Amino acid sequence: MPTAVISDIHGNAEALRSVLSDIDARSVGRIICLGDIIGYGPEPLQCVDLVRQRCEWSLMGNHDFGVLYEPTNFNPGAESAAYWTREQFDAEPDEALRAERYDFLGHLRVRVVEPAPGGQFPVLAVHGSPRRPINEYIFPDDAMTSPDKLESIFERVDRLCLVGHTHQPGVFTDEPDFYPPAELGENREYRFVDGEKAVINVGSVGQPRDLDPRASYAILHEDRVEFVRVEYDIKKTADQIKAISELHDWLGERLYEGR
Ligand code: ZN
Repeated sequence: MPTAVISDIHGNAEALRSVLSDIDARSVGRIICLGDIIGYGPEPLQCVDLVRQRCEWSLMGNHDFGVLYEPTNFNPGAESAAYWTREQFDAEPDEALRAERYDFLGHLRVRVVEPAPGGQFPVLAVHGSPRRPINEYIFPDDAMTSPDKLESIFERVDRLCLVGHTHQPGVFTDEPDFYPPAELGENREYRFVDGEKAVINVGSVGQPRDLDPRASYAILHEDRVEFVRVEYDIKKTADQIKAISELHDWLGERLYEGR
């Protein structure tokens, strides 16, 4: 059965609910999450609860880490959002639920290897990169400007690696090259090629940064990966952000532009 891969929800429950409905309307067997469930957005508790209910597993992203432990290398806006998010978890009046959520965050893994849907090869999943699973960005430009970096990353990939973190969906091949979904034909899909390694960025559910404001996720099939975009009520999320003083207005404004 195909696997839906979501990432970088960032407390945007409105986007997450739309993505989950889209997934439910397709024949997808399971959902996995590459991390950054929280941070930036106005509904972190709802997002954690939905991921706990709907995903088979989730990884630890740098924002999940930042809320649970401490924000490292965060800009002031991200840091303030992390502290506000932590307050929401602490303010849960139901003691058991509060403990369950922290327990869930505390047990997020930083790297998972599992068989591809067809079982033909292993798939590595990390939030950032195979070298530094929580924090390293693999940028689309790296294919052109940092071939050594990509070579070192591909040395750590057997065949297929799933990542998030940059919020920019697409496929890195070991040429190295980068293909955004728009360059993958009208079906926006990458078919696995024998002998070719690929790092697949599934994009962001809750804060896309590729100038397409629709929520992004991917579906891993036996022979290919398919990139999907889903419209959601951006204004609802942006207005919620505006109403919370600890969350900078820009965090809502950027959602309209997908940047
Ligand atoms: Zn993120």
